[in-house]
Amino acid sequence: MMKSRRQFMKQSGLIGLTVGLGAVSASCTPQSISQAHAGTLTSTALRYNADGTFKIVQFTDIHWQKDGPDDKNTAKLMADILDAEKPDLVVLTGDTIEGSKMTDDADYTKAFFECTQPIVQRKIPWTAVFGNHDEEGPMNRRDMMKLMQKIPYCLAKPGPKDIDGVSNYVLSIYDAKGKQARNTLYFIDSLAYAPKEIEGYAWISRKQINWYVQTAQHIEKQNHKKLPALAFFHIPLQEYNQVFGDKSLGCKQEDVCCSKINSGFFAAMLEARDIMGTFVGHDHVNDYEGTLFGIRLCYGRATGFSTYGKEGFPRGARVIVLTENQNNFQSWLRVENNQVIKYTDPA
Ligand SMILES: [Zn+2]
Repeated sequence: MMKSRRQFMKQSGLIGLTVGLGAVSASCTPQSISQAHAGTLTSTALRYNADGTFKIVQFTDIHWQKDGPDDKNTAKLMADILDAEKPDLVVLTGDTIEGSKMTDDADYTKAFFECTQPIVQRKIPWTAVFGNHDEEGPMNRRDMMKLMQKIPYCLAKPGPKDIDGVSNYVLSIYDAKGKQARNTLYFIDSLAYAPKEIEGYAWISRKQINWYVQTAQHIEKQNHKKLPALAFFHIPLQEYNQVFGDKSLGCKQEDVCCSKINSGFFAAMLEARDIMGTFVGHDHVNDYEGTLFGIRLCYGRATGFSTYGKEGFPRGARVIVLTENQNNFQSWLRVENNQVIKYTDPA
């Protein structure tokens, strides 16, 4: 049976949450959030563990629907993965919401609160970028961002108004004491669709690339050195085609649905020399990674059951582990039935 909105509010309202770092307590309902400023984490909320590790779980392409019958499977899978991996941060790399199934703002509110509940219940900081499907309903990116910021433990924030897209921002990971920044996480809005005369998908724009370059320079100046960084966005770059081959690890079972335009974000990363790896979604049955001129281009593993997949290719997540003061990261996939996939042989 479908859950009514009233039931949803009541159920989620029962989760008594205390936000650890900000010491703000709140319950996870759309109503109470606005009053409580719930989930206000400090800017140094992301910190290395005492053992010198920091773990990220990337969920992608959740495609949460309005009372979608398959969404409860997605929530269960997310919960299982979070319980097994116990990450320090969760990143949603777009197409979190199946926008075309939303009829009004209330639908979006319900969907965002529902699909993040497995994360919020476990009191894990989380953040997100937008994909091409999130905005296919009545709510625009800016309002979606405001909505997400009302959900506890959300670290996403809108980027500068004068660049394209909204989910353009940076988070830093600090040492265990919260004093020194150790890593940068870039979140980039890979936008949605190209203009009609071009067709296909949008590209990361010149303004966004300039923002990235300036931000990287600013961070280097502040810290007197480059900080090893990761970048998260939804739509793969054209270079994901180039990197698949003899040495890549994992599956390619569909085309790389990138933009027809190569706007040069890869070149900008090469020149700035801080990003170690990129993480995308978008193509649900690709999960490979490959290294191109020193940068690891990785797909996530599609998470949502309410959208296309492939028989025999279980849904899951990508896990990323950083080690303090190391210019490298480990990564593997965790999928249905508590299965871990570590690709070691080239595809
Ligand atoms: Zn998708």
